[in-house]
Amino acid sequence: MRIYLSPPDVSDTERHALVRGFDSGWIAPLGPEVSAFESELAENTGRSRCIALSSGTAALHLALLDAGVGPGDRVLVQSLTFSASANAVMYTGAEPVFVDSEAGSWNMDPDLLAEALSSNGERYKAVMTVDLYGQCADYERIEAICAQHGVTLIEDAAEAIGATYRGKPGGSFGASAALSFNGNKIITTSGGGALVTNSETTADRALFLSTQARDDAPHYQHSELGYNYRMSNLLAALGRAQLAGLEAKVEKRRANNNYYRETLGDLPGVEFMPEIEGGRSTFWLTALTIDPDLAGLDRETVRLALVEREIEARPLWKPMHLQPFYSSNKMIGGGLSDRLFANGLCLPSGSNLTDTEREEIVGIVRNVAGAA
Ligand SMILES: *Cc1c(COP(=O)(O)O)cnc(C)c1O
Repeated sequence: MRIYLSPPDVSDTERHALVRGFDSGWIAPLGPEVSAFESELAENTGRSRCIALSSGTAALHLALLDAGVGPGDRVLVQSLTFSASANAVMYTGAEPVFVDSEAGSWNMDPDLLAEALSSNGERYKAVMTVDLYGQCADYERIEAICAQHGVTLIEDAAEAIGATYRGKPGGSFGASAALSFNGNKIITTSGGGALVTNSETTADRALFLSTQARDDAPHYQHSELGYNYRMSNLLAALGRAQLAGLEAKVEKRRANNNYYRETLGDLPGVEFMPEIEGGRSTFWLTALTIDPDLAGLDRETVRLALVEREIEARPLWKPMHLQPFYSSNKMIGGGLSDRLFANGLCLPSGSNLTDTEREEIVGIVRNVAGAA
């Protein structure tokens, strides 16, 4: 049977939750499950407000709009991420300017960020950090730098619900944060997301914009451009069942990561994504790098050996500054995310990965490494 990188992990509990949502009669489209899911997500992320949405990308878009980002503005975005982070900036008409990662977390380099914000002439409307593969960025420094320069920080926590950093949860950093419940994420609503914030005005604004910016009138009246971004009640029911199992899923993904470290860590040239000091990653995906000079083989050799056995492994996210679509955008710093992309590999990391599957994966990797 095919082994996937990060498949949905659902059970009868989720099926019952969906049926509960259905039987309650709240199909179209909002309802009590949405409100309950929002309260639970706000509590999980240590925020006062949450707006459940149709995707994590929608949450990023609304967070940027709330920050006043629009045409002519520039936004600093971590280059090593999924395209959704940068695309959300483009939706507003603003221009993403990319920032390289630091070695200690693989997330936005605080030194490069400070340098960019201090440079004369360039003005940035917002900063978007990304919590890569379930690991929070260095928020102690990044929050201080953004505060010092009076620039809005938005946390792309799409991969990091369940993580902690210095005692604070993933999703609790910056003016607002985006969560994702896409099918491959640590918890899923089959597709969905949320915006979490401590600001009443941000939450109210997100709610307004996500429901087509309807004015307070008996007829349909609109003074602004709106969006259809709300989450449905049925999917919120599914999300609540998933959220109740989040901690167990984090434990399982961390156990996968630990197993890979113990069984592959001795191979020459193999290094795992470091865990930032004071942070606890969910290890949504286990990521490692293979230095071809030390290992005698490259990432692609390992990946293709796995693919041949119907095992899905992936290179890291291709950094945005290397994407054809963003090739003319400015990049600050450089080198580290390029190297991580060249040598990096994500191994199957699902919370439903079995011991036998893990053993098979490790066996294949050790085999190709041994033959090299
Ligand atoms: C998944 C993801 C998103 C987008 O979330 P969707 O719910 O798929 O729209 C944004 N940023 C990062 C880093 C992601 O991994």
